Amino acid sequence: MSAPMAGTDHLSHIEHVILVLSGKGGVGKSTVATQIALGLRHAGKKVGLLDLDLCGPSIPRMFNLQNQDIHQCPEGWLPVFVDKDQHLSVMSIAFLLEDANDAIVWRGPKKTAMIKQFLSDVVWRDLEYLVIDTPPGTSDEHISVVESLKSYNPDGAVLVTTPQAVAVGDVRRELTFCKKTHIPVIGIIENMSGFVCPHCTECTNIFSKGGGEALAKQFHVPFLGCIPLDPKLTHCLEQGKNFLEVYNDTPTHKALDAVIERL
Ligand code: ADP
Repeated sequence: MSAPMAGTDHLSHIEHVILVLSGKGGVGKSTVATQIALGLRHAGKKVGLLDLDLCGPSIPRMFNLQNQDIHQCPEGWLPVFVDKDQHLSVMSIAFLLEDANDAIVWRGPKKTAMIKQFLSDVVWRDLEYLVIDTPPGTSDEHISVVESLKSYNPDGAVLVTTPQAVAVGDVRRELTFCKKTHIPVIGIIENMSGFVCPHCTECTNIFSKGGGEALAKQFHVPFLGCIPLDPKLTHCLEQGKNFLEVYNDTPTHKALDAVIERL
């Protein structure tokens, strides 16, 4: 799709901009970003979710919105609504790709240019919250996103980690990165933290537990809680369902209630 005319500034009027970061891919950053956006929507807010994870833009799949065409207006690109009442809209790099693998092969400057365009040219209209799923790690794209976003005064970053030591090591680097770039840290979420048996509700810690909380203490940042491994989410993806449909039934939703109250 050709690029729209360079738009006016569509971000600076948004009341709250929240970044979701992780030290590496696969820890559930996009899942958490999606669930935060859904939680805010359930709290009655008007929310946008921007998928800037060029390495693996997975958010459209979580809303069963693959192959969705995005539309242009003279001011820029229009995001796609997830719900009928139009309280949650999504924009993803995946909507612009003819082939899902295209993003992976792009070189740095092309990715950086696309991110900048996404930040300036999506017409979000009257949002209260914009949740941004950022590229993982401290890659060039990541630095580019954060630098571009600093002028919009984001509320801060939610950092996602899994309990394993390696991921926690990555998130430590991410915390240092936030400090260096002066992005406030809203807190750390430990994802895939235990498995709650659907039959007896006993929680088994498949990986270790507590790394996220220990790290939060060490860096003097809030610990936002643990999200268990949630088979309903996996099932939902496999069945091609929209996360919106199962939001109220998932342990993830309960785990995130306290986080939503802080935002
Ligand atoms: P990232 O954005 O960090 O690369 P994703 O959010 O895409 O990670 O998650 C990677 C995979 O793990 C996806 O298949 C997702 O459905 C699954 N996943 C993430 N968090 C959970 C969870 N709490 N319970 C079950 N599956 C999860």
